[in-house]
Amino acid sequence: MTDLKKLEVWFITGTHHLYGDKALKQVAEHSQEIASSLNAAKQIPVQVLHQPIAASEEEIYALFSKANGAANCIGVITWMHTFSPAKMWINGLKILNKPLLHFHTQFNRDIPWSTIDMDFMNLNQSAHGDREFGFIMSRMRLNRKVVVGHWQDEESLGKINAWARSAAGWNDWQGAKFVRFGDNMRNVAVTEGDKVEANIQFGYSVNTYGVGDLVKVINAVSDASIDKLVKEYADSYVLMPSLLKGGEQHASLREAAKIEIGLQAFLEDGNYKGFTDTFEDLHGLVQLPGISVQRLMNKGYGFAGEGDWKTVALVRAMKTMGSGLKGGNSFMEDYTYHFDPNNRLVLGAHMLEICESIADAKPSCEIHPLGIGGKADPVRLVFNSAPGPAINAAMMDMGNRFRLLVNEVLAVTPLQPLPKLPVARVLWKPYPNMHLGCAAWILAGGAHHTCYSQNLTTEHMQDFAEMAGIEYLLIGKDTNLYQFKNELKWNDASYK
Ligand code: MN
Repeated sequence: MTDLKKLEVWFITGTHHLYGDKALKQVAEHSQEIASSLNAAKQIPVQVLHQPIAASEEEIYALFSKANGAANCIGVITWMHTFSPAKMWINGLKILNKPLLHFHTQFNRDIPWSTIDMDFMNLNQSAHGDREFGFIMSRMRLNRKVVVGHWQDEESLGKINAWARSAAGWNDWQGAKFVRFGDNMRNVAVTEGDKVEANIQFGYSVNTYGVGDLVKVINAVSDASIDKLVKEYADSYVLMPSLLKGGEQHASLREAAKIEIGLQAFLEDGNYKGFTDTFEDLHGLVQLPGISVQRLMNKGYGFAGEGDWKTVALVRAMKTMGSGLKGGNSFMEDYTYHFDPNNRLVLGAHMLEICESIADAKPSCEIHPLGIGGKADPVRLVFNSAPGPAINAAMMDMGNRFRLLVNEVLAVTPLQPLPKLPVARVLWKPYPNMHLGCAAWILAGGAHHTCYSQNLTTEHMQDFAEMAGIEYLLIGKDTNLYQFKNELKWNDASYK
């Protein structure tokens, strides 16, 4: 996926000329040391670049202006080593268009009890310098993440890591292009939305192509490239006998490979970061894309079914945010329930298109009929997903705003084999429990389509929502339905 080490966050230290050159020299040295330490920390996936200290309005403005224009700069970290009067920051903050993390830290971890004097206090005064900076950001109603802690503290590094990953996802959306083959599934509400508003708010664009444009590319795929990909399928998966060379359905496997090669060529040619299709508009396609979609998602493309472009973009962003982490991110749908009072579960799946990145073992490659779409039987990967903590995230257009809704869940091993279920699937328990979790989701207008993540947490998602400037709702371990309903009402009021 995305190589996060190519991306930079800039470490900017605020101060003031009042303290004299000797103090400013020390500020610069300390700032350099912290930035180098963050840059070297294995917990932080991006580069942390030290910037010259900012001691005047002009310097601050120039730094933020430069950050805005730096293609690889995905965000800035600010820290006030000394006091830095915050009116100096207003004009810089007004133009900054990258995410900001306010690191409320201090060079010295401990108070040097026996030697502390007024010079030490004046140098190490982020305890109040950062309050002045915090005030101006609150006064200007600016979203930012505040991380409190010593710069060598594991907890601080973890929070910076989460924010940097979210900033990478946000950066990836700016100028991103997603393609929609055909329109949304007919009559479905939640997959609709305002694409112009999304372009303004999120920075990505969604444009449509007739499926015939894709079919043309697929039909131009060479036999040699199909041979090569079919061999890769055989090496990577457990193929069911009928799909093997000489098997009666081997031609279907070749057709699936042809679709995958054509799809990828189309995406690469248009520089698209994700796509959606719909089973209602497959004219000229022999099968509904199954294995091809599962594999393209695994390569990092965003995807969602039925024309659901908002989920396409969300899956892409979450894949970027999780780059390099163990576990995967996949398009998902809440499909069916297990209401046993002693063990209530949701079974998540889709008709075909679950990303290989969440498979717990080598997938089996199978072909089965599909009840809808009226096409030839599609080839798909079938697998279970590993147990453990995960989240489901959904993006809805509420008419006057976008809402990002996240539910913490616990994935579990299927209670029994599912020999007749021919799709990849996940079983989970929603938090705080099945009844409350699902009730809260439905009250929030949560979509049936989500991005299921094994490697991101609610912290990543909240940081991301704040960067995007959209509503964020969490259904987690502490969710109480009375408070959640009030939150929905109050949020409505706050967006009026
Ligand atoms: Mn669906």
